[in-house]
Amino acid sequence: MTILVKIADLDLSGKTVLIREDYNVPIKDGVVTSDVRIRATLPTLTQALEAGAKIILVSHLGRPVAGEYDEAFSLAPVAKSLSDFLEIDVPLIKDWTNGIDMTDHQVVLCENVRFEKGETKNDDELARKMGQLCQVYINDAFATAHRAQASTHGVAKYAAISAAGPLLINELKALTKALREPATPLLAIVGGAKVSSKLTILETLSEKVDQLIVGGGIVNTFLKAAGYEVGKSLYEADLVEVASRLMKQAEANGCEIPLPIDVICGKEFDEETPAVTKAISDVEADDMIMDVGPETSQQLNKMIAQANTIVWNGPLGVFEFEQFSQGTRSLAKAIAESSAYSIAGGGDTIAAISKFNIEDKISYISTGGGAFLEFLEGKKLPAIEILEEAARAWEAMERAREL
Ligand code: AMP
Repeated sequence: MTILVKIADLDLSGKTVLIREDYNVPIKDGVVTSDVRIRATLPTLTQALEAGAKIILVSHLGRPVAGEYDEAFSLAPVAKSLSDFLEIDVPLIKDWTNGIDMTDHQVVLCENVRFEKGETKNDDELARKMGQLCQVYINDAFATAHRAQASTHGVAKYAAISAAGPLLINELKALTKALREPATPLLAIVGGAKVSSKLTILETLSEKVDQLIVGGGIVNTFLKAAGYEVGKSLYEADLVEVASRLMKQAEANGCEIPLPIDVICGKEFDEETPAVTKAISDVEADDMIMDVGPETSQQLNKMIAQANTIVWNGPLGVFEFEQFSQGTRSLAKAIAESSAYSIAGGGDTIAAISKFNIEDKISYISTGGGAFLEFLEGKKLPAIEILEEAARAWEAMERAREL
């Protein structure tokens, strides 16, 4: 596991701490409609407050134009929600980059960091200003860890001490357990629309896992590569060769990529089109494959039952249309019933998990869409890398102090 400085390692008494959280929450008519992300941060805030810190909170919300205030992207509803949860006034600070007057044990929320010019460009000057606001910088926002921005990366160059918050550490621990130190057999499911958007993940996982279940539009490209008729199904002609190579490589690595034996087809891509179950060899030129069939589901369920670690990203079919949701539903149920350590992430996967009501049956649901996928790809996340550098510097400083 990565070495990072944690809140518990530090003496925060009387210190000003800048915490980067992820308060990118859904808001309607000025009210937060899902406070899951806000509630998730409360233990971090309580821990820092109990340690005697003054807290400056920084987050982005949506994608506003840099340099322009826009009420639609204001964090005011988040400040209100935080005040309610913490039962203290959490003021929203509009102009904060040049300094904030704070009292002991206070919590303030800075207005949307993406209103600041330079945030998304990881501008050094903005990062320096943020670093100077605090004595300790804590990054607790895993979902933004794949982006090198001023509040997720640059600031760590200028803050005296940079540490990782508990939410970020939990997420890293869960992902590391699943991917870097998995209990085997390790099984991954990569579904969704296109091979092209998940090519690196497929490459990385095919070298690492014991079984790789490909699903959704992705499997159609693999079926084509294996010589099957896929009719009008979504597939990527220019990636058939790649799919073929991946299957060969996987086989050479002892990784199994099972292909469906039966599928559910429609004639049109819509909610009304009748669903017809067919053996894979019976797919016709005007068919669209939109789900796996029941026999395939049974076969996949057996594999899932034998796995000890399961990593899941992407649906097995067009699960938004009821008649093509059985494959993803059956998969979700099998994962829910399995005793394996299971980890899932990505927007559509989380939607499927909540549609099939298995939230509490997955060992860990990753909060980070892009960051989760990049971790699966085996990439180093820039926000984590800089915290590791900071931890090495901090350790050296502590050692020197002990001498
Ligand atoms: P992604 O964002 O890559 O995870 O893709 C998720 C989307 O893929 C969902 O909206 C699904 O409806 C879609 N999808 C899954 N299976 C298929 C399929 N066989 N044909 C077309 N789209 C699909």
